[in-house]
Amino acid sequence: MNKLVITPLGTISPYPKDNMNCPGYLIEYHDQKILIDCGSGITRLLNFPHDLKNLNVIITHYHKDHFADIGSLQYASFVYHNLGELNNKIKIYLPKKDIGFNKKAIISNKECYAEYYDIEDKKIIKLDDLSIQFKDNKSHTIESFMVKIENKDFKIIYTSDIGTTNFNELIDYCANADLIICESSFLEKHNAHTNTHMTAKDAALLAKESYAKKLLLTHFWPEEDKTLYLKEAKLYYDNIEIAQEGNKIIII
Ligand SMILES: [Zn+2]
Ligand SMILES: [Zn+2]
Repeated sequence: MNKLVITPLGTISPYPKDNMNCPGYLIEYHDQKILIDCGSGITRLLNFPHDLKNLNVIITHYHKDHFADIGSLQYASFVYHNLGELNNKIKIYLPKKDIGFNKKAIISNKECYAEYYDIEDKKIIKLDDLSIQFKDNKSHTIESFMVKIENKDFKIIYTSDIGTTNFNELIDYCANADLIICESSFLEKHNAHTNTHMTAKDAALLAKESYAKKLLLTHFWPEEDKTLYLKEAKLYYDNIEIAQEGNKIIII
């Protein structure tokens, strides 16, 4: 069965709090695993060594809350390889353009059992029968890649950190998606500039105008009540869930 299971591991930003972590989504499909972002605290929800096997890690951009746990993951790969329980390197995909500033912090070939690949705009990788496409959303403070995962049965979009700068283009990109995992850093009451982060209302309008089947809101302010994001978004679009650590979404 072509079942894809999405487990939110981190749903808040910019720091972890209580039982919530910074951004991370584990996607399981057949025997493959895709970890989108590796934010602060997410490794405590991974199941080692199982989740290291056939693991593809995608870092969408170089904000620390999106890659802070990469070192823990690398050490875990090293230890389980030495224990004979991990025989294939984990694959780590990193944005190419800004790697210079971040290379020392992220790329390690010592005490690590990983190999590294570039992310560039519009690049597509194939995994099983999935096509995984990266697209610079051009609406964040630095280069930030959306991830589109699709096959003949479904289409899923992870927006990464994004504002409303190219909203019409974004609507086209997300057209008829089965699921949009969309950041909603703000509520309208915060009166924030939305050129680099969205409100819950923005995310809901994106889902509505692109005719998405479902919207998963994420990337919340740690001190805010999550239900307020749902309440705001529901004014514009109906099929919405609030991302919670461990609450799986299954796409068939
Ligand atoms: Zn972020
Ligand atoms: Zn960011």
